Amino acid sequence: MSALSDGGAVRAVRSLGPTSRRAVSSTSWPRGRSRMGATIHRSFAYRLHPTAAQAERLRQWIGATRFVYNLCLEQRRDFWRQYRRQTGRHLTWAQQSQEVSELRRQVDWLADVPRDALERALRDLDAAYRAFFAGRNGYPHPRVKDARGVIQFISRDLAVKRLNARWSAIRLPKIGWVKFRDTRELRGRWLSVAVSHYAGQWRVSLAHEIARAVSTPVQSSVGIDRGVTVFAALSTGELIDGPNVGRKAAASLATAQRRLARKKKGSNNRRKARLRVARLQARVAAARKDFLHKISTGLAKSHGVVVLEDLKVRNMTASARGTVETPGRNVRAKSGLNRAILDQGWGMFRQMLAYKLEERGGYLLTVNPKDTSRTCSACGVVDADSRDGTRFACRACGHDAHADHNAAINILRRGTPLVPVELASAFNEAGTAIADADSPPRPLQKRTAPQPPSRDNAGGGG
Ligand SMILES: [Zn+2]
Repeated sequence: MSALSDGGAVRAVRSLGPTSRRAVSSTSWPRGRSRMGATIHRSFAYRLHPTAAQAERLRQWIGATRFVYNLCLEQRRDFWRQYRRQTGRHLTWAQQSQEVSELRRQVDWLADVPRDALERALRDLDAAYRAFFAGRNGYPHPRVKDARGVIQFISRDLAVKRLNARWSAIRLPKIGWVKFRDTRELRGRWLSVAVSHYAGQWRVSLAHEIARAVSTPVQSSVGIDRGVTVFAALSTGELIDGPNVGRKAAASLATAQRRLARKKKGSNNRRKARLRVARLQARVAAARKDFLHKISTGLAKSHGVVVLEDLKVRNMTASARGTVETPGRNVRAKSGLNRAILDQGWGMFRQMLAYKLEERGGYLLTVNPKDTSRTCSACGVVDADSRDGTRFACRACGHDAHADHNAAINILRRGTPLVPVELASAFNEAGTAIADADSPPRPLQKRTAPQPPSRDNAGGGG
């Protein structure tokens, strides 16, 4: 059984922070109603240090699960009609699971892989198909050998023990104790474990069920605009710059990618160049994640409600921001590379904010960003010409502000009517509320006051 106690759950939430680059955390929401309950699912990742023999066996297992995943994908893609003709049944996860069990009895190297790890691969495939049929994702791809290799275990046969202040060990089925760098206290009840291998590094990720911190949410609200030259602008006037470390690493990554493209296919040099690209990619990703953790933790601590623009809507109205038509002098040059890096991070940022706010009893709202960058936050007039690069100079009232700050205020204002009355009903599965606001941001002064009933009507025909 697990050597962990359940006592550390609440402390664990508090001990989360951006301080360690090795221990990176991410979320996985449990489906359905349990999300709103007293516990939250989160996973914590650590650098794993298997011995050479352990690494070899893990590699073989990862290869085996990849084989099973791809085989079943192929089966679903190419043979489902034939299967239905022969058996009269649909090809489902359960059917495939049975077949894999059969195969496992006949093939030695499959028999060596823990049963739940193969099961997990089949469930992943099933989830990929369901996401495809629901229109959330593209058609499932085969798993390729060079990409990140993952193997997952259910917690039944697993245990964790602390070795000293810096090291812990996890007991994996058949493999035994494997050391990992543990920089945090262990927390709560854990459910499953994923071991992954990428860019020469091993990682172990523990999925936990932790208690939700019961706390009074902070009262203040803030609107955030995704800046053009900065990472984000807050409605408070604060501008948040992007991470410089990411920019530097991105430049060397671009160089490494160009070099890789010139290497001969199948050559040893190409293999080395590809590993270098993968390492740099991992470094850029780690730097980005670290930066996003810092920013999102700070925001979740100091605000109870955070309003963001809705990404999906934003993609459709990107040109409305005026950044494409009138990018300003510096905007375009600065935006290129760094922008691309941060673009990838925005979804992650939103996810981090959502769970960090939830842990503290706060809320994340997303609103339709239409016209938020063209509307004057002082007088409410919508005019694309008021925006000039990073300045917003209202042509109607003369209000002068940083363009992203101006937009952040509009975003906050658009989200504010939702708090707190509509909050409960507006919540969706993703942990955020969607404001279906097609109207422009609410201006400070109401333009059309409700008309008093006219004398004729009020007279009631008297
Ligand atoms: Zn104005």
